[in-house]
Amino acid sequence: MNYCKKLKFVILLLFSILLVNCKQNTTKSVEEIAPQKEENQGPTTKNLLDEMDADKDGKLSNSEVKGPLLNDFSKIDKNNDRFLSKEELENAPRPERRAPNDINTVNNVQKDFDVTINVNPTLFIKESLLNEITQEERTLSNGTKALCYVITTASQPQEHKMGPWCPTHINDGNDKGGIWFKDGKVYDVDGHFIANLKEFYRDEEWALFREDGSIKVTKTQEECEGAAKPDVDEKYHNYCVECMPEYYREKQSTYIIPVKPLYLETSSKLGRDGIGIAFNGVNFEAPAPTHAILAAHTLAPLDDHGGHVNPHAGYHYHAVTGATKEIEQKDTHAPMLGYAMDGFGIYAHKDKNGNNYKDLDTCNGHYDDIRGYHYHAGDAGSNQILGCLHGVSGSISVKG
Ligand SMILES: [Zn+2]
Ligand SMILES: [Zn+2]
Repeated sequence: MNYCKKLKFVILLLFSILLVNCKQNTTKSVEEIAPQKEENQGPTTKNLLDEMDADKDGKLSNSEVKGPLLNDFSKIDKNNDRFLSKEELENAPRPERRAPNDINTVNNVQKDFDVTINVNPTLFIKESLLNEITQEERTLSNGTKALCYVITTASQPQEHKMGPWCPTHINDGNDKGGIWFKDGKVYDVDGHFIANLKEFYRDEEWALFREDGSIKVTKTQEECEGAAKPDVDEKYHNYCVECMPEYYREKQSTYIIPVKPLYLETSSKLGRDGIGIAFNGVNFEAPAPTHAILAAHTLAPLDDHGGHVNPHAGYHYHAVTGATKEIEQKDTHAPMLGYAMDGFGIYAHKDKNGNNYKDLDTCNGHYDDIRGYHYHAGDAGSNQILGCLHGVSGSISVKG
């Protein structure tokens, strides 16, 4: 790598990290602290300073910096005082905003298969979309520009109702609650399940119900947001967390997905902003951060369709249960469910004969001559719709 490339890389890395940090400073849901995502974080500006600042004066002189920073020292040193301050490092020339997992795709080699299937925008359910799908040139996760589909949705399903999630009494049947998962298995969240949590998790601190058998459920937007954030408010420990879709009706999710997917030799970790989209415009999310949820003795059940609501993304899926629009295949292959953020198709877990696919890679993907490279959603109990992304990824933004 020459110095210029190195500098670009460092700045990209730094900027990705700044983005991550900016996001963490705002009040966001517990969804965003998924343990597997923390690995994406490298040194911050502060770490860089700590590491290079030999005389500990809080800024970097040109004798303290090396390589790319030294090479572009005068450009970054805006006030020409011959020191790089924290502000100057943070304001160093930066690329366009990109997803935090970009760093995985720098210098990644593209691979062409015999068959590559372009995204088909007509497969989406029209009523789920807020605008007509348009085509625009956009910047992808590896910094290249490509023709992309811009898909704007309210992340509300057309084919099924949302909820229920939390039962309200320990005598409630499974029609009053959703599902939860542990060790690859799906469990109905009924009254008995809530009453039995101490044994289920072998942990005496579970107490989600009161003496009269009523279950502690978040009842308002304020309560759900207090319970769904990473540092769960003490008063919502031991709560069943339920955010209602109507709290977030105004949310709009915009997906940028490349028209023609590009396969990369090296896969990239799932970003924090969704891994794909179902044909009904609902977000397929990265695994639910069960460690953070359970550490506060809270449960955030999915409904029977595999979805729940968080303050950041609105309604989204962590499990595929066959509730959404499926495109049947002419052969015995599993039906298609939607698209990943890299434009490769996502298909159901099992084929028409009920068999699992045995040849999937770590992302849950494989290739065939009809569908090209594509993914198969993980089993509903796996808390993992996809394992990673093997293509150059678009992006998603949520507003409202
Ligand atoms: Zn979630
Ligand atoms: Zn397949």
